[in-house]
Amino acid sequence: AIKYDVIIIGGGPIGLACGLEAQKANLSYLILEKGCLVNSLYNYPANMTFFSTSERLEIGDIPFVSNNAKPTRNEALEYYRRVAIHKKLNIKLFEAVLSVKSTTNKTYEIVTKKRAYEATHVVIASGFYDIPQKLGVKGEDLSKVTHYYKDPHFYAFQKVLVVGANNSAVDAALETWRKGADVTMVIRGEEIGERVKYWAKPDIENRIKEGSIKAFFKSEIAEITDNEVIVKTPEGLVTLENDWVISMTGYQPNLDFLRKIGIKLSEDEIMKPQYDENSMETNLKNIYLAGVICGGMNTHSLFIENSRVHAERIIQKIMANVE
Ligand code: FAD
Repeated sequence: AIKYDVIIIGGGPIGLACGLEAQKANLSYLILEKGCLVNSLYNYPANMTFFSTSERLEIGDIPFVSNNAKPTRNEALEYYRRVAIHKKLNIKLFEAVLSVKSTTNKTYEIVTKKRAYEATHVVIASGFYDIPQKLGVKGEDLSKVTHYYKDPHFYAFQKVLVVGANNSAVDAALETWRKGADVTMVIRGEEIGERVKYWAKPDIENRIKEGSIKAFFKSEIAEITDNEVIVKTPEGLVTLENDWVISMTGYQPNLDFLRKIGIKLSEDEIMKPQYDENSMETNLKNIYLAGVICGGMNTHSLFIENSRVHAERIIQKIMANVE
């Protein structure tokens, strides 16, 4: 197997940041990404605008220039790709990591779907966008149900049900409604989420108030059928005609992947992986965590701007080991 000082699992913004730090420290490194470059961002809704300003999405001190203060998904794709090209980051795409195992000579064997590698240090920056939070209702597997909303045109003149009340749900509801969809929201809580972007919140609240977008609060889906959705509301069951369901109820990290490697998780529902806050090293020697994966099921505590620092912490620790 080809041997590296560091192998980084995940080519998201934080995996790239780790690659940049490793490069700066003259370590041999490789980033392995199972999809395209910044795969999670690529799969975001096509017209998405970040809630962060562009300088807060910067990695490796490379300026991120955007037209407006808050960049769009397309601008972010341009930025991270330009960083990867300019810095000649060593990255292999469409190469999912299947397992990480310790070897007899104090290194790790990293097996991908293509080949095996060996590394002294492993950084896991695998994010949280792979597994959608399921509704757990009958009909969820119908092809009319999606957990990854992309573009509004598709939904023009259709009866659309959007589940959720946070940024993704609000964006999907507003966009599809503006392209002529008949939109109903099903919301578990009593109101629109407080983390919703400050420019989108009054927009959605006013559309609901004026009745342009219908909303059932304190409600959840009971069942989805080919042409209908049954909603459990405080007033009882309501049956709605329906063409498409956009379920924007969040995502969860692949914690099983960590568990199989041998990383300990907390025993509560957060399942927070065990790691040292200063070095980001897990309970396994020379295996580190970086980015949103560190939060376990608490996927909103970490984002790009407050997890970029993980890269520096990890490489500092690795350099201390090497020296
Ligand atoms: P990710 O970007 O998720 O990267 C992880 C990568 O690892 C992925 O590319 C994945 O394909 C890859 N991977 C996973 N498993 C494997 C494997 N076994 N082998 C190889 N590769 C693997 N954050 C902000 O800071 N600002 C925002 O404005 C913002 N807006 C958001 C909007 C939406 C709609 C969503 C869903 C999230 C948003 N976030 C935002 C959160 C943001 O996605 C994360 O902060 C950011 O992506 C974290 O980067 P990361 O590198 O830790 O994880």
